Parts: sequence; structure tokens; C-alpha cells
Amino acid sequence: MQALTDKSKQVSRKPMNFMERMYLPAIFKGMVITFSHIFKKKPTINYPEKKRPFSPVFRGLQILNRDEEGRENCTACGLCAVACPAEAITMEAAERQPGEENLYREEKYAAKYEINMLRCIFCGLCEEACPKDAIYLSETFTPADYQRKQFIYSKNDLLIPHPKENPTAYQQALGNRPKRESVI
Ligand code: SF4
Ligand code: SF4
Repeated sequence: MQALTDKSKQVSRKPMNFMERMYLPAIFKGMVITFSHIFKKKPTINYPEKKRPFSPVFRGLQILNRDEEGRENCTACGLCAVACPAEAITMEAAERQPGEENLYREEKYAAKYEINMLRCIFCGLCEEACPKDAIYLSETFTPADYQRKQFIYSKNDLLIPHPKENPTAYQQALGNRPKRESVI
């Protein structure tokens, strides 16, 4: 049969000599290669005990942001959903009621906000489009799961912890992210 490439090699079928039949030289040669790697610098790390620093441009799981008072920044304008090339974002807007000023920063807020992580390509355009600094891509991976429905992240999954009620978790979620202001 004619080969498609010239990469194939003819296998040698010549009978093994005495030393080859003993296998010991081959085993010794393999051990030398193995032991030589003990003194070399390891290219791997012991994850998750050790973690590599993230690149400054790393884009991970989305976080819905709050202000310093703990109020949700998102005003459900829909710009992130329009900007999303994967159509991964859906939301429902609601009007803030009297007495809810401590919960939502603007008069309108996202009563429902969902991101389909199976669609998301972590391009960061939702963060770019947001005029309220309400969404950003964090230094967190999207965890693996077995069921598709677990990859539909709801508002509760995405919302950053409250800065006053849980300041440690809030700072952890912010990571090394520089502080940004709303543009409108
Ligand atoms: S990162 Fe990109 S693909 Fe993912 S939700 Fe944002 S805009 Fe859509
Ligand atoms: S996250 Fe930003 S762009 Fe998206 S709906 Fe909320 S305020 Fe608008």
C-alpha cells in the first residue's frame, strides 16, 4: 500500500543478541535517564498547594461587583449582553423600591442575571462594555462539573461577597484588580 507521508520507518526484525536478551542494559539505561531528572529543575508545581501567579491579562470567572457600601452596581442596562459575542448573558430588570437603596446603587437593577459558562469564551467584552463597573473577569477558574445545568451561573453564583459583612471574601474576590470608577 502506498504511504501518504514519508514518516513511516521500517521495523528491524533482526534477532536479539545475547546482551539484548538479558534486558539489563536497557533497564540500566532507563534508570540512568530517570535518575538524571531528579536533579533537574521541575517544570511542574504541586497544585493546589502551590499556585502559579496569574498573568495580568488573565480572564476567569465573571464577578458581579458591588460598591463600598455593598450595593449592587448592575443597573440591568443590557450592554454586556449585547456586547457578548457568544450570547451567553441573559437578565431581567426590576425597579428599585423605596427602602432598597442599601441594596441597589441605581434605580434599576438586575432581578435575574445569568451567564451560560458553556457558551462563554472569556473574551472580556462584557467587562469592557459595562459602564457601571458592575462585571469583571476574575482570577478564578470556572470549576468542572458533570451536568450542563450546573454551568448556568445565576446572580447568586456571580455576585461578589458583601464588603462589610464578609470583608475577607470580598478582598479575595477582588484579587489584584485595580479600582475602577463608573463611566456614567
Ligand atoms: S467573557 Fe465574553 S463570552 Fe463570556 S460572557 Fe463576557 S462577553 Fe460573553
Ligand atoms: S453588568 Fe454592566 S453592562 Fe451588564 S447589565 Fe449590568 S450595568 Fe449593564
